[in-house]
Amino acid sequence: MPLPSTDTTVLYASGGAESLVAEAVVLHLQPYGNGQEIVLLDRTPAHPVDRGWPDQGPDLGSIRADGRELPLVDVVVGATDGTNLFVGDDVPVRRGTEGWAFVVAHVLDAPSRIAVGDDVIVSVDATHRQALSVGHTLCHLASLALNAALADRWSKPAREDALGRADFDHEAIQSSTIVPDGSVDVFRLNKSLRRKGFATDGLGDALDAVAAEARETLTRWIATDAAVRIERDGDGLGDPRYWVCELPEGTARIPCGGTHVSSLGALRSASVALELGDDQGTATLTMRCSAAG
Ligand SMILES: [Zn+2]
Repeated sequence: MPLPSTDTTVLYASGGAESLVAEAVVLHLQPYGNGQEIVLLDRTPAHPVDRGWPDQGPDLGSIRADGRELPLVDVVVGATDGTNLFVGDDVPVRRGTEGWAFVVAHVLDAPSRIAVGDDVIVSVDATHRQALSVGHTLCHLASLALNAALADRWSKPAREDALGRADFDHEAIQSSTIVPDGSVDVFRLNKSLRRKGFATDGLGDALDAVAAEARETLTRWIATDAAVRIERDGDGLGDPRYWVCELPEGTARIPCGGTHVSSLGALRSASVALELGDDQGTATLTMRCSAAG
């Protein structure tokens, strides 16, 4: 069973009907973990988790083969050099590395009795997908709103975000997690951030005001129902993709491999909570956002 030499075609960013249900051909099968099985397909609507930057988790769904419904227990980014398949944390190269194909590994909980060359239908749980898409769009929007609310704390010229403001999110992000209808971002308030010109003094007292300002910005943006689209250089898993949103301040374009709603109205409303913390001696700022979507 040769491994594929090209990326899996991914349909979840297409916005059409095939972003949730699509026919596909089985390219490769192999045992995995505790009696599980990995299925590689030529194309898929299922969004995989990328263990290198696991912000958006895997879709829920199933593979229908031969009249049988086989639930997906996980969907993970894998990579192959044609000889071996590496999955999840074991992927040794970055997307776009010459000579490597990036593939969506569909994980089943038991050997499937599917064969290479079989036609199957992949279905994604639409409700769960929608909740993650709302959360992911909110996550990008909230990073821009937080950057705006913190802009006056920079004393040196900083890298600019998609709207031309000092990019606190990029300079300080430690982890970003998309949850149904929301997101949790953790930022490091460390020495290197202060050296770049970001003032952390008095931030604790200012947190409520910063959160209120970010929420106001989000509310204003959501009210415009601005269009959101995914731009892509190709349909392969490894091809760069971008989240693009037409905000009143300008068009924001952010590299992103996830799924999104098609306009900001889908969020309906947003809440923002900020909290200072400590991670092994480094001060942190946690932002929790939630949409009514
Ligand atoms: Zn993203």
